[in-house]
Order: sequence, then C-alpha cells, then structure tokens
Amino acid sequence: MTDVTTNLSQLKVLIADFEKKYHRAQHSVTLLAVSKGQPLEKIQAAFAAGQRSFGESYLQEALPKIAAFNEGSVEWHFIGPVQSNKTHKIAQHFAWVHSIASKKIAKRLNDQRPPDLPPLNLCIEINIDHEATKSGINLDEVVPLAKYCIELPNIQLRGLMAIPATRATVMEQREAFHALFLAWQSLREQGFVLDTLSMGMSEDFEAAIAEGSTIIRIGRSIFGERHYL
Ligand SMILES: *Cc1c(COP(=O)(O)O)cnc(C)c1O
Repeated sequence: MTDVTTNLSQLKVLIADFEKKYHRAQHSVTLLAVSKGQPLEKIQAAFAAGQRSFGESYLQEALPKIAAFNEGSVEWHFIGPVQSNKTHKIAQHFAWVHSIASKKIAKRLNDQRPPDLPPLNLCIEINIDHEATKSGINLDEVVPLAKYCIELPNIQLRGLMAIPATRATVMEQREAFHALFLAWQSLREQGFVLDTLSMGMSEDFEAAIAEGSTIIRIGRSIFGERHYL
C-alpha cells in the first residue's frame, strides 16, 4: 500500500529543494495532487495530510469524488480535454480548468458558470511538441484565444499549461518547458495579466520548476500507479 502521507511530505521537501536550487522564491510552486485513476481512500488520506487541491481528467470519475467532500473544502482542477457536453458540470463543480483549447469551450464555461461562484480559473493548453496524440493549441494561436478569454466576465485567464513529450534528461526536459515559459512571458509583456504556468508531472517536475512552473501536477509520485491505464 502506497503511503500517501509519506509521499506527500517527501515531495514537499523535494519541491523546496528545487525552489532553492533554481533560485525560485520559497513556496512559489504549488502542488496539485492528480487523483485521476485513484480511489477515494487515497484522496481522503492526502486531504487528511493537508492537501487541498486535486486534479481530475474525467468528469464522470470526478463527480462522485467531489460529492464525497464538503462543498468548498477542496479546490478541484479539471486537467483533461474538455468536451462540449461536459462544460455545464465542469463549470459547476471545478475551480480551475487547465486545458482550454478553443473559444467555443471557453465561451460555454463562461456562460455556464453559476453566478454565485467566483470566476472559473483557466489555463490555455499548448501542444508544445506538436504531437498528434495530444490536445492543446499551437503557440501561434495563443494570442487570439487569450484575447477572447479576457473579455468574458465569468472566467479568469490565469496562464498556460502544457504536457511535453517524454524526454530522458532534465536538460532535455527543460527545453520544452522553456519554450512555454517564453510564450507566457511574451503574453505578459503584451499586457495579459497572468500568474500561472501549469507544467511538470511526476517524471519531469524538477525541469519544470527550473523553468518557472507555478503549478506542478503530480499523480503517481503521491498515490502510486493508477488503477486503469
Ligand atoms: C495524469 C496527469 C498528470 C499526472 O501524471 P503523473 O505522471 O501521474 O504525475 C498531470 N497532468 C495531466 C494533464 C495528467 O493528465
């Protein structure tokens, strides 16, 4: 049995070490615990250990987990591709969506966000390595989509997200993250108010922290292997 509590505390030590090593401010990197494919008991164990933000990729899987916690006690992040027929429930139950790849989905989330909730936080997903199997837009499409998002009142554009192709070394991993960082910087220089770079997973979060990540999305290093996949 994976010890979620031990994994979480070891991970926090590592994150602090990498913040120091790469001259990042203390606590500038937030840990999102990716709980897709993991049983409720493990999420509850992480919650008991103080973890408050969790990432899910599939709406149907996420809904019963969300219902198991008191409303407002957990910050739920949707990190998978968003289908049109899922936007209603996502706008209702999540605080963040990391995977915006079209105006159409941004508009639906805006229109369906319940008025009593704060704006839904969004990141635009970039297909940084141009992989056919991955979602996300190309970098040359980001400015029009960002412009569109900031006009909508019930969503708040926070930054960019990417899932780079697998690379073996930290040096190689850093190249893809650096490209995302540069795109984010460029948007900021153009006047977009962005504070979030969602990048880094179990196998590459050191490189992501080195390149300016503000949210790392970690699943297996906290919870162990997923039950499907
Ligand atoms: C599954 C997933 C993760 C977590 O991956 P691990 O390798 O388990 O750390 C992070 N981000 C996204 C978008 C995912 O789908």
